[in-house]
Amino acid sequence: MIARVSLEIALRREFDYLIPPELVGQVEVGSRVQVPFGARKIPGCVTALAEESAHANLKSIIKVIGAQTMVTPKVLQLARWIGEYYCCAPETALKSVLPEAVRQEAAGWRERLYVRLLPVAGDPPKLPARQQAVWNLLQERRELAMTELLALAHTTAATVRKLEDLGLVAIAPQISERDPYANETIVASLPITLNPAQAGALAQIVTAMDARVTPDVANKPAGGAFLLHGVTGSGKTEIYLQAIAHALEQGRGAIVLVPEIALTPQTVERFKARFSSGKLQTLVAVLHSHLSAGERHDEWHKIRQGRARIVIGARSAIFAPVEPLGLVIVDEEHEQTYKQEEAPRYHARDVAIVRAQMENAVVVLGSATPSLESYYNCQSGKYTLLELPERVDDQKMPHVRVVDMRQAAHAEKGIPIFSPQLKEAITQRLERQEQTILFLNRRGYSTALQCPACGYVAECPNCSVSLTYHRMEQKLCCHICAHVAPVPKICPAEKCGNPAIRFSGTGTQKVEEAIKKLFPRARCHRMDADTMKRKDDYRRILGDFRAGKIDILVGTQMIAKGLHFPNVTLVGIIYADSALHQPDFRAGERTFQLLTQVAGRAGRGDVEGEVFVQAFTPFHPAIQYARRHDFQGFYDQELEFREQLKYPPAGRVALLTLKGRSEDKVKFSADHVKRELDKLIPPPANASASPPANAAGPAAAFKDLIIAGPAPAPLLKAETYYRYQIMLRTRSMSKLSHALAKLVAGLTLPDEVTMAVDIDPVNLF
Ligand code: ADP
Ligand code: ZN
Repeated sequence: MIARVSLEIALRREFDYLIPPELVGQVEVGSRVQVPFGARKIPGCVTALAEESAHANLKSIIKVIGAQTMVTPKVLQLARWIGEYYCCAPETALKSVLPEAVRQEAAGWRERLYVRLLPVAGDPPKLPARQQAVWNLLQERRELAMTELLALAHTTAATVRKLEDLGLVAIAPQISERDPYANETIVASLPITLNPAQAGALAQIVTAMDARVTPDVANKPAGGAFLLHGVTGSGKTEIYLQAIAHALEQGRGAIVLVPEIALTPQTVERFKARFSSGKLQTLVAVLHSHLSAGERHDEWHKIRQGRARIVIGARSAIFAPVEPLGLVIVDEEHEQTYKQEEAPRYHARDVAIVRAQMENAVVVLGSATPSLESYYNCQSGKYTLLELPERVDDQKMPHVRVVDMRQAAHAEKGIPIFSPQLKEAITQRLERQEQTILFLNRRGYSTALQCPACGYVAECPNCSVSLTYHRMEQKLCCHICAHVAPVPKICPAEKCGNPAIRFSGTGTQKVEEAIKKLFPRARCHRMDADTMKRKDDYRRILGDFRAGKIDILVGTQMIAKGLHFPNVTLVGIIYADSALHQPDFRAGERTFQLLTQVAGRAGRGDVEGEVFVQAFTPFHPAIQYARRHDFQGFYDQELEFREQLKYPPAGRVALLTLKGRSEDKVKFSADHVKRELDKLIPPPANASASPPANAAGPAAAFKDLIIAGPAPAPLLKAETYYRYQIMLRTRSMSKLSHALAKLVAGLTLPDEVTMAVDIDPVNLF
């Protein structure tokens, strides 16, 4: 027997190996194996079995890694699709479907010592006090982990060893699972009676789920993803929980994707509380980057062994080996973090749709501010739209006021942080002992250091961005590459030396400082990547905020999502338009989403919430539609703009980024790639009377292809690399990525220049 193996080094091809007699029956499709490759031993994954090979002198597989096949055939199929659609090497796609901790197996299972009571014949033994205490405990508990036993009996291992010598107990290593939530007590929750809007939505989801398991193939609905559009607090999560319960009743499992940032203990607890509240219950597994390698290893194997049926995780949890899979939920489906920014550059929401299709599962995408792509798919009938227009508790949406900062700037002869209106509102909240959230999407103190005399700006030597001033640390930092520089006392520009060099722009540190000056008695805390360094900082600060120990919370997008604090009645958005003017066709959409999300933090309790949106372009549609909570209005006008320019969802985008240390070489290579791409476009009809020979060839397929560039990337230089981009737009992306894969395979670039292909890019920088 021959096994076809995809090696974990990107070679874009597979290799045949012999299955030695002792491994026959152990090597299956999906098995992880170790094979010889040249002088090295390399891990790989078996992608197919065959009777014979076209090659002679095959080497043998050395060993099988792990007891169970690691990549299930279904996940293998998904990895193949990713390789093809996202135009990356199949090995790269395969690599991403297993967590590093599982692939490396270094973490392995943790062995702990356990102490077990042995039966005694006849009378109980007479023992010294300490040994007696240990023995009594074991009488009660039968078996305990050594560490736990020692803690309970306040004694040392020597005491236990004496009992072992007497033949009263046995001490042996056992595998023990690392449970990241072992120290938490979770209170069980019961399903809530749904309101009519929720019940209607759930009924449609359940009907679709039932249709998938009926043996009557003819009646299976095509497509069938759902988009659950519901404002924050409209009860989406409760629908997810009840749909999951239905999947379990069907004997199937579920995957719940949540953006990394929203994967808080609060979120996980809601799922655990419904499905696994007791000790030793493993029904819910959690996969995310804050787990230790060992915890991730154990959680993954719980799923693979079928003990965990519900998986909650960030992006890569879409590859969890849940079998059979009945339901996939993608919460906050519009979030850009679902897109992986390195190869394979997949979008977890889109992978979810494909996986569900392959496995006959139902997908529910949920959001208060759906992506244009998903909403468009509802309008075109591809997805089914489910709407929850009201909050569960009948609370009103917060009152949003837009403040024209041009007036405030004029009145104060400079750009203030707080308009008089916002200042007044904060004062009121402090008097009423209600809480305030202030949002600004820039960390640090000042966003630039500039000399007013000569115009010098402190820039990063590695990236084309200005350095941010961090006041507490007294240094200048690059937010792209983390370069750190001292703060100059005088302008460092040659022949200038102006001592009046100034900081401009505002970051969260400055907002915090301004609050402390204006309201010295207010308890203010900042939450951004600079203050959240340790694992439980996040939990601690939110705990303090919940307990009312903090009056004002200042933060970046970290505080924009999912938090639920009834006493927050005011939200201030310091500069709402800071994200509007970026060179990205989604800038308006992002601003609309962010404003809606941040505004949703206000008024989650009994008092109606109020939101102040400070902006220099107060009449921008993204701001005005967000103020009116008018998603449909925003969608309609935004779609018009996208259609004109053939941007998604009206078309699809592929972005090619060439990078290298020499700008000339990068530019030259980009021009070369452009020439190759031009061959994909059919020549204009009137170019010649007789069509060229290749007119009926593959080129003719790209009638609607638009190629823009090459042009310098918006961020020309990042981490010492220059970057040029070419953007392609078409309606038929599968076809284009196929053509691109061919182009990449035949392309020769200078050694120092690389090209990244990003299909459906989210980040255009
Ligand atoms: P979303 O996910 O849309 O933000 P949630 O599902 O978190 O909304 O619901 C908000 C709150 O309302 C939660 O505390 C939830 O337990 C509660 N809730 C949900 N559905 C109902 C219902 N039908 N009746 C009463 N309370 C509900
Ligand atoms: Zn930098």
